Amino acid sequence: MTQAPARRESGHESGNESGNESSAATFESLSPATGEVVGVFSIHGEAEVRAAVERARTAAEWWAGLSFKDRKVYLNTWKATITRRMPELADLMHRETGKPRSDVMIEATLAVDHIAWAAGHAGKVLGRRRVSPGMLMVNQAASVEYRPLGVVGVIGPWNYPIFTPVGSIAYALAAGNAVVFKPSEHSPAVGEWIGRTFNECVGRPVLQVVTGLGDTGAALCRSGVDKVAFTGSTGTGKKVMAACAETLTPVVIEAGGKDPLIVDADADVAAAADAALWGACSNAGQTCAGVERVYVHERVYDEFVSEITRRAEGLSAHGGDDAKIGPITMPSQVGVIRRHIDDALARGGRALVGGAQAVGERFVQPTILVDVPEDSAAVQEETFGPTVTIAKVRDMDEAVELANGTSYGLGATVYSKDHGMAVAERIRSGMTAINGVVSFAAIPALPFGGVGDSGFGRIHGPDGLKEFTYAKAIARQRFKPALALTTFDRTEQTDRRLARIVKTLHGRG
Ligand code: NDP
Repeated sequence: MTQAPARRESGHESGNESGNESSAATFESLSPATGEVVGVFSIHGEAEVRAAVERARTAAEWWAGLSFKDRKVYLNTWKATITRRMPELADLMHRETGKPRSDVMIEATLAVDHIAWAAGHAGKVLGRRRVSPGMLMVNQAASVEYRPLGVVGVIGPWNYPIFTPVGSIAYALAAGNAVVFKPSEHSPAVGEWIGRTFNECVGRPVLQVVTGLGDTGAALCRSGVDKVAFTGSTGTGKKVMAACAETLTPVVIEAGGKDPLIVDADADVAAAADAALWGACSNAGQTCAGVERVYVHERVYDEFVSEITRRAEGLSAHGGDDAKIGPITMPSQVGVIRRHIDDALARGGRALVGGAQAVGERFVQPTILVDVPEDSAAVQEETFGPTVTIAKVRDMDEAVELANGTSYGLGATVYSKDHGMAVAERIRSGMTAINGVVSFAAIPALPFGGVGDSGFGRIHGPDGLKEFTYAKAIARQRFKPALALTTFDRTEQTDRRLARIVKTLHGRG
C-alpha cells in the first residue's frame, strides 16, 4: 500500500522584492489521493505578512470610501467570475483536497450565493439608520451605522476551502474592509485561486493571500490586523486568541463541533437515515457541522438502524472519478479516526458497517457504530471522518440531554413530523436543522457559528456583516432641551422636575 503523502518543505534565505532579508522557503501542496504535487508555495514570514497588511491598509482606504452600491458591483463581478470558472475550480479542488468534483460544484455554488447576499444586503444592514431617542432625549436625533474595521485577517481551513473562508471574506469585504487571507497549508492552491480571481476583478490589493504553515497564521495574528476570523480546531483557536490578546485584536472563532442528529418516534425514518448518512460521510466526514452522533427514539430505533445500515453498505470511499466519498485530506487525521474507532470497539461498541479495518492509509470507509459509551472519544471528541455513533433513547428528554452532553455546540439536526421546533429550541447549538441536514449553512440570511468549544462570533447573515464592523452612534441636538441636564447651571427645580418625570415614566409596574 502506498504511504500517505508527506508534505515537503524546503528553504534558503534570500532578499525579497522589498529588499528585506526574509525566508524564501517553500512547501508543496500534495494531492491526498495520489501524493502528486499540486503546487509549490511560499512560506511567508513575519515581514511578508506585515507587508501584505500594509498594502491592504492602503487599499482599505479606497475600498471603504466606495459606496455600498459600488462595492456590490465589484463583488458581483467577482461572483460571476467564480461562477463561470467553476469547472476549473472543481478540477483544482479535486486535485488538492481529493473532494469529488460534484461536491465542489455544490460548495462553490453556496459560496457565490453568500457573496451575492453579502453584497446585496450590506447597505441595508450596515448603513446609517435612525433610532428612537426615547422620551428623556426627545430633543435629539439619534442614528447608528456600522463602519468597517480596516484590515481583517482570515485564517481558513482545508475542509471547505472556498465555502468556509468566503463566509468570512465576502462579509468582511461587503462591509468595507480589506482582507489578508491565510489558507490552510493543505489548500493553498485554492486559496491563491480565490485571491487571483478577486484581483482580476478589482485590480487593487483589497484581498491578498499569504501562504505558509501555522507560523504564517500566527504572524497574521500579530501583524496589526483589526480583526481575525479563524476556522479550525478548538486548540489552535485558543492559540489564535492568545496571540490576538497581546494587541487587543478581536477574533471570531469557528472551531468545529460534535453535532447530534435526533430522530423522534414520529419521524420519516427513511429520510432521517438518508440525512444521517450523508451528514456523517459526505466530504469524507470532514465537515465542522457534519453529523457525528445520532440519538433515536426507541420506537423507531431498529427501523432506523436497518435503514442506515442498508444505505451505508452501498457506499465506499475511493479515488475514482465517480467517487461519492474521497480521501482524508489531512494525513494526520487518519490516526485520530482510527483512535476513535478502536477506543469505541474496545469499550463495548459494535461496528455495524466498517470498523477498525475501514481505516486505510488515505481513505476511510463509512463506519456505523452502536453501543458506544457516551463518555468515549468517538462520542465526545471531533472525529472528522466518515463515522457516526447511534444510540437508542427513551424519549426526547433523554435525546436532548445527551445531545447537549459535549463541550461543543455548533450545529444539530432534528427529524420529527410534529415536535421539530420544540426539540430544536432545547438544543444548545448555534444552528439547528429540522427535517433536513446542514440546511442552515446554505441560507445566507442565517448566522453561522457556535457556543462553547465550537467558538463564538458569527459569519453569514446580518450578524456576519456586523461582525466585521464597529458601531458608530451619533446623537444630534435638534432643539434645546426642556430640561438642561448636562450643565453645571442645572437648578434644583430641574432636579425636581426630572424626579417627577422619572416617576411617571418608570415608577409603576
Ligand atoms: P488547525 O486548527 O490546526 O488549523 C486551522 C488553520 O489555522 C490553518 O490555516 C492552519 O494553518 C492555521 N494555524 C495553525 N496553527 C496556527 C497558529 N498557531 N496561529 C494561527 N493560525 C494557525 O486545524 P487542522 O487543519 O490541523 O485540523 C485539525 C482539526 O481541527 C481537525 O481534525 C478538525 O477536527 C478540526 N478542524 C475543524 C474545522 C472546522 O471547520 N471548524 C476545519 C478544519 C479542522 P496550517 O494549515 O498551515 O497549519
